[in-house]
Amino acid sequence: MTASNALFEENHDIFRESVKRFIQKHVTPYHEEWEKEGIVPRDFWLEAGAAGILCPDLPTQYGGPGGDFRHNVVVLEEMMKVGATGPGISVHSDIVAPYILNYGTESQKNAWLPGMCEGRLISAIAMTEPGAGSDLQSVKTTAKYQDRDIILNGQKTFITNGQSADLIIVVAKTESQHGAKGISLIVCEGDREGFKRGRNLDKIGLKAQDTSELFFDNVRVPKENLLGNKNKGFYHLMDELPQERLSIAVAAVSAAEAALDWTIQYVKERNAFGKKIIDFQNTKFKLAELKTQLSVARIYIDECINKHLRGDLDAVQGAMAKLWTTDLQCKVIDECVQLHGGYGYMREYPIAKAYEDARVQRIYGGTNEIMKEIISRTL
Ligand SMILES: Cc1cc2nc3c(=O)[nH]c(=O)nc-3n(C[C@H](O)[C@H](O)[C@H](O)COP(=O)(O)OP(=O)(O)OC[C@H]3O[C@@H](n4cnc5c(N)ncnc54)[C@H](O)[C@@H]3O)c2cc1C
Repeated sequence: MTASNALFEENHDIFRESVKRFIQKHVTPYHEEWEKEGIVPRDFWLEAGAAGILCPDLPTQYGGPGGDFRHNVVVLEEMMKVGATGPGISVHSDIVAPYILNYGTESQKNAWLPGMCEGRLISAIAMTEPGAGSDLQSVKTTAKYQDRDIILNGQKTFITNGQSADLIIVVAKTESQHGAKGISLIVCEGDREGFKRGRNLDKIGLKAQDTSELFFDNVRVPKENLLGNKNKGFYHLMDELPQERLSIAVAAVSAAEAALDWTIQYVKERNAFGKKIIDFQNTKFKLAELKTQLSVARIYIDECINKHLRGDLDAVQGAMAKLWTTDLQCKVIDECVQLHGGYGYMREYPIAKAYEDARVQRIYGGTNEIMKEIISRTL
């Protein structure tokens, strides 16, 4: 299953076929190697750029293929179908690119977006700090104006694409005595003096994706690297988070659907007590429940994608989508592991990796407790 056919037009279907071919050739054969390395090589990014898979919704005037968010959905779905969680494409295309497109000046867009589409510039967004994750307003990283420059000082952690990134949107305090009202977004290039990357963090899942600590020690960037309005960074973040959360939700539903497909296939082949595992009523009922729950989630997600295309997806709907689908993803995949028996615990089976990869979905992009907090404000 993918997002319903009604959502897509012919050009999305054609794009989907090309994404599938790209994944077969450039992702599947190498993913295991990337998992061992803990990182996806730069060549992959260049190949993905050449295939038009990076930032597919960016307008042609900035080097993009000129698609819409449904093209991003296609990439997410096809990657999740084969358990390709390594490439940090979603952060790059669905999260960072929209900030630059929506808040960048013409010269920022011209300087950065074409390279991001080509895969020459890999991007990241650095919000989280060792002492501030959910409570983003209390970040300690500072951005002080000095003559024509901005000086960055501080530390970030858990940053996706942190080892590879050439461009990092840094969430920092331009007014350190203020909370949300003192936050700005500053773009830092990866080769700036004083900028250092920490180790590639050892995670329980998403093994091929690099995740890092980042250090800023008197890093000087020109004041033209301010993205959006000074002291309005927190509000820019709040405006963009629905798309980030919708992308996580799309990935969640797609990953869970893939897990269900693998499991149906497995239980049709595996025997116990003289019959196929699928012939036990427990197996059929369990799979029927999961299929039903996923079908309902799919309808809600399709509705959210439609709303987002119309510019109507609000923070609460984005939070609900992320909360519901990531909880469901973990539940579905856990049940699928169970139906695989001991083989479900072996990393050579995709279901085992899907289990490891799923867990973080309830944590990043705002934890699911924070989603409930956002939703409960409307009660
Ligand atoms: C693999 C991975 C990739 C990531 N990628 C990025 C990235 O690219 N960029 C980035 O900036 N960050 C990234 N993160 C960080 C992620 O967004 C944070 O870990 C997350 O927001 C939670 O912050 P925290 O870890 O500080 O947990 P904390 O905020 O310390 O939360 C700890 C617990 O307390 C709960 N809690 C906190 N506040 C409340 C509250 N008000 N009400 C109820 N419960 C609450 C939380 O839900 C959680 O259960 C990534 C994390 C991981 C693991």
